[in-house]
Amino acid sequence: MNNHWSHRHLLDLAVLTQQDFELVLELAERFRAIPSQGPRRLPALQGRLVATLFFETSTRTRNSFEIAARRLSADVASFAPASSALMKGESLLDTALTYAAMGAELLVVRHGSSGVPGAVARDLEAMGHRVAVLNAGDGLHSHPSQALLDLFTLARHFAPRQPTMQALAGRTIAIVGDILHSRVARSNLWALSAAGATIHLCGPSALLPGCFADFLAAMPPGCNPDPIPHRGAVHLFRNLDEALTDVDAVITLRLQKERAQRHLLTNLEDYHRAYGITHARLERCRAGAPVLHPGPVNRDVELSSRLLAEPQRCLVNRQVSHGIPIRMALLYLLATTLER
Ligand code: ASP
Repeated sequence: MNNHWSHRHLLDLAVLTQQDFELVLELAERFRAIPSQGPRRLPALQGRLVATLFFETSTRTRNSFEIAARRLSADVASFAPASSALMKGESLLDTALTYAAMGAELLVVRHGSSGVPGAVARDLEAMGHRVAVLNAGDGLHSHPSQALLDLFTLARHFAPRQPTMQALAGRTIAIVGDILHSRVARSNLWALSAAGATIHLCGPSALLPGCFADFLAAMPPGCNPDPIPHRGAVHLFRNLDEALTDVDAVITLRLQKERAQRHLLTNLEDYHRAYGITHARLERCRAGAPVLHPGPVNRDVELSSRLLAEPQRCLVNRQVSHGIPIRMALLYLLATTLER
């Protein structure tokens, strides 16, 4: 395996090349395939400290980063805001500095405001700390590891023996629901388009403004030219049946009540009728098209409970399992880059 990874931090998927995505998938597949009987720990990060700094709540992301770090034999320091000196007014940067002073080299950061992991990375680097920051979800901006595990789940679904980017080329994937408030949707736009998939975005106008049609044209600063020469196209839909016609897979998103109090549709039953994913709705898709959801699910709002109970069709649990090898791959790659 040729490890050409050159990124010091992982803040956004817009900066990744096709080879970077392939490398993450290849490594994740190797880590996934380690048999569950026998010792599961690899020595790759022995003696290194991973700190998980979650300034916003999490179940899946935090735990799977911590499990991934331990499977690579790293030590883990876990920050919990409610029982920390944050409550005494310690700043975010001072909190990160404290973990760096304890020897943490890999900082996994989640925050409710967009840009915080990037600011932590910049400030610590400017102060001469040799650390790598992994964005574990920041505001509406980005959730790289979630989109990578979605990519891995889809690639494994379509090509179980060879889950590469090629498995998604020419496919059509629908992303449905609260696109506006979703960092998962934004990161998925970069990942799926890099694989050459066409993306159908679908939601009511309050949660899917028309400007999303040009999302991929607005490359973030520092990404000019686009590292992916030919991205898949994005199309917007208001009508779910049209959006789902002939798609290969559906990613549905949680209604982000905490970020959307004022804009949220007041009637969740109406929302479910218009945008909820059910067996009947899936009939429009290609035969057997799977459904993904990043969790946590609002049952019978985004997704019917009946579908949720069908692991062949609804890949939510598989996504959760794939979070571990994907995060092992990311920790491994960033740790290796720090050594160079
Ligand atoms: N768990 C994902 C996130 O943190 C999705 C969600 O919460 O809706 O963005």
